Amino acid sequence: MKLYSTLDRGVVQVKPLVKGRISMYSCGPTVYFRMHIGNIRAYVNWDILHKAFLYLGYDVKRVMNLTDVGHMTDDTDFGEDKIEKSASSEGVTPREIANQYIRTVLEDFSRMNILSPSGESIDLKLEIGKVKEYGFLRATEYIPEMIEMIQKIEGNGCTYETEQAVYFDVSKISDYTIFTGQSLDEKTEGARDEVNVDPGKRHPADFVLWMKRVGKYENHTMHWKSPWGDGFPGWHIECSAMSIDALGKEFDIHTGGIDHIPIHHPNERAQNIGAMGRSVVSYWIHNEWVVMGDDMKMSKSGGSSVVLDDIVDMGFDFLDLRYLFVSVNYHIKINFSKKALHGARNSRLALVSRLRELKNEADGEGELIHEYVERFKECLDDSLNISKVLALINEMIKSDKKAEDVLVTIYDFDKVLSLDLEASVEDVGLDIPEEILKLVERREEARRGKDFELADSIRGQIGDMGYMVVDSADGFNIEKI
Ligand SMILES: [Zn+2]
Repeated sequence: MKLYSTLDRGVVQVKPLVKGRISMYSCGPTVYFRMHIGNIRAYVNWDILHKAFLYLGYDVKRVMNLTDVGHMTDDTDFGEDKIEKSASSEGVTPREIANQYIRTVLEDFSRMNILSPSGESIDLKLEIGKVKEYGFLRATEYIPEMIEMIQKIEGNGCTYETEQAVYFDVSKISDYTIFTGQSLDEKTEGARDEVNVDPGKRHPADFVLWMKRVGKYENHTMHWKSPWGDGFPGWHIECSAMSIDALGKEFDIHTGGIDHIPIHHPNERAQNIGAMGRSVVSYWIHNEWVVMGDDMKMSKSGGSSVVLDDIVDMGFDFLDLRYLFVSVNYHIKINFSKKALHGARNSRLALVSRLRELKNEADGEGELIHEYVERFKECLDDSLNISKVLALINEMIKSDKKAEDVLVTIYDFDKVLSLDLEASVEDVGLDIPEEILKLVERREEARRGKDFELADSIRGQIGDMGYMVVDSADGFNIEKI
């Protein structure tokens, strides 16, 4: 498979360390808040990547962290621990906060048809204590591994200790800034405050491996004994220690959001080199953001806190959101708006309606159409070119292949897309005939061309057929009269 590798600054052919096997680590959520749709997009992307590898016949070993200690507000070393801050404001323990939000992660994964990192459907009855069996690794369960890794880094001369913390000395890694190509001197902005907090810190880009329970953190609730005194780990060491523990001294793919390119991932890579003498990860793959479109900017905190419940409140199905995410390559920004969601819903329902027609035409059990399966694999292979997959599906529907074969083949593709196509075809509540959808499309064209007379007459025609187009500021819905 080809993927966009951030360090190679381009699309490269992924060569697994072991033929036919992929080892993959995904940076997971810090569990102190309900994930917004930008977070969720990342997990949908990596779910598609995971399923694509499975479809292409690879064995996949994958894990994801759940950060429940050490992640500071504002990503600075001397902020407040996000979990502890949230726990004290809600009057509960850090563990309770983490458990509460791990539960919401499982719920959101399940709603969006995202598999667990181990490749299983999420069972909402899953006990929180058992998440590790499903590939979710909790940071607080890996403290000994983190301490051991810091000791290795220390043994290799890449650390220094102050009264407040143990730091990674980034000057020891010659290509520390390889992700961004910046020089180290440019990395000083915003870091002045931290130097003020700890006068022993040598360079603003140095980062905490172990924070001591002194000064500002004297009363930090979560703390463990270590060779450097009582304290807690820095955020970055968590991912390095857990990924190496679970996947070994070398593994294939490390995924994360583009927001990790300037700090978190250079730090993880530096730790890996500092401890193991090698960079450990073959390919760093990053997903782009979800940006809020014009019609979303008025909502709470500029829209960046849209969560799945808001999708339902806006009258959409989770599958509409999954369709929207699936239709855009992971490496491209998504402009999220109600209009975009309407578009995704209409495309999804149009697809379901075409599949339903095929089902009515179908005669007996179908077979996979190998020619199309091969082309589907080529699309996946081509850096997860999913928009090409949607075009391929349309082409197949219009082809002269047998309806039952087309149907079976599309359901097979849905193992990767996870749009519940078969279940939706069976769900008659969604039934909107193809003719209606075509008329709606023509009406939209007329409106765009400002031919309102034609648009109105098509609307009348649609009404005569028992359907109604309900316009709103951000799109339209089709409803049965
Ligand atoms: Zn990470």
